[in-house]
Order: sequence, then structure tokens, then C-alpha cells
Amino acid sequence: MILSRKAFLRLSGVSLLAVAARKVKSAISGTRWAMAIDVDKCLKQENCTKCSAACNQAHNVPAIPQSGRDVRWIWKDSFEHAFPGQEDQYSSLRAAPAMVLCNHCDNPPCVRVCPTQATWKRDDGIVAMDFHRCIGCRYCMAACPYGSRSFNWMDPRPYIKNQNPEFPTRTKGVVEKCNFCSERLAVGKSPVCVEACPEKALVFGNLADPRSPIRELLSTRRHTRRRPELGTGPGVFYIL
Ligand code: SF4
Repeated sequence: MILSRKAFLRLSGVSLLAVAARKVKSAISGTRWAMAIDVDKCLKQENCTKCSAACNQAHNVPAIPQSGRDVRWIWKDSFEHAFPGQEDQYSSLRAAPAMVLCNHCDNPPCVRVCPTQATWKRDDGIVAMDFHRCIGCRYCMAACPYGSRSFNWMDPRPYIKNQNPEFPTRTKGVVEKCNFCSERLAVGKSPVCVEACPEKALVFGNLADPRSPIRELLSTRRHTRRRPELGTGPGVFYIL
């Protein structure tokens, strides 16, 4: 079939419109995984560490006792340290610890400095890592303004309690951090810390979906992020 120039242009126009429509649709229906932590709920159970215990078990995070050599994916930090310059002198939160983890930033400085592309930003917002590509230069650790990455100064395997055979272990000389439970998201499950929280203080969801519970929470409750002035765009929100 030979098309006239006019018919060709008409068809091309229709195809371009279809492509544009598909792009708009995928932008609207895209995914940006994020977490909201309700600080009040989190503080209800004093000394609760169920989320970090569940994370450590699921991801073979070693329990290394030496100070400065520990490996952490989600842990408690003082409010002052987690939110420098944001302490409200009239708020009781000032003295309370906050759960911290990798923020899976929109503009992650850790990704920019990695010389081997061992860490990268996925389309769904997760800042991922390939442990096999990490050469242990620790540029990412220096670049992260939140201290969210840990380095394996020693072989972590002897320090893993109840090893999970379904998740890889790491080796000496490798950096690691929270992965937003990408292995669980891939099979339709929530992050393990979210499931483990007895107070349901952690809400995980898709920021790109205006009807998602996390969007509803953020649109109705006062919240903050860690060091917003840096422009990294953290994907972890704190409901105050
Ligand atoms: Fe990278 Fe740190 Fe942001 Fe996580 S919190 S994405 S490690 S800069």
C-alpha cells in the first residue's frame, strides 16, 4: 500500500499523539515509593526495636559489637542529630529518638559520586545497590549527608543471627544500606519494618498515586523531612 503524503502525515500525527498520551499516562500512573513515620505513634512503645530487628533478620544485617564498626539499615537516632536546626524548643519531640534509614532521595548525592555505578536511582524512586560492583571506596558514605550508609570493616557473616538464605550476605570492604525492601515489593509485599511495627507508625506507599494512604497522610498532617535545605528530596517523611 502506498500512502499519500497527506495520509502519511495524518497517520504520523495520530501515532505521535498516541505516544504522547502513553507518556502522560505512564507519568501519572508512575511509582515513587516513599515512607512516612508517625513520630508520636513510634514513641508509644518505649525502647521498641521491632522494625529494626525485623529488618536485620530479613536482610542479614550483622550485629557487630565494636563501636564505629556497626552496620545499620534502620535505627534510632536522637532528634537533634537526625534533624539539626529543626528542634522545636517547645516540643517534647526534642528529647525523643527518631527512626532513621536511607531516605531514597530524589537527588541522591551518593549516586553522583559512585565511580562504578554500584548505586543508582531506580525509576520507582528506590536508591539501589549492587553489592558486587561496590569497590569499597566509601565516596557514597562521604557524600550522604544523613549517615545512612554503613561499611563492612570486617567479614560480616560471623555476626549474622539466624541467616536468611533468601537474601544475599555481604563481604568485607562493601558498603550497604536500606533498600526499601525492594525484594519484597517485587512480590507485592510491604517493607518488613512496616509489617513489624506494632503501632502501625510506618506508612509505605506510592507518592505518585494521589489516592494512596501515604498521600492522604501527607496532605492532612504536619510533616517534615531530614535536612530539607540540602535539596536532596528525601523520600522519608516524619509526621509530627
Ligand atoms: Fe543516598 Fe544518603 Fe540519600 Fe540514602 S539518604 S539516597 S544514602 S544520600
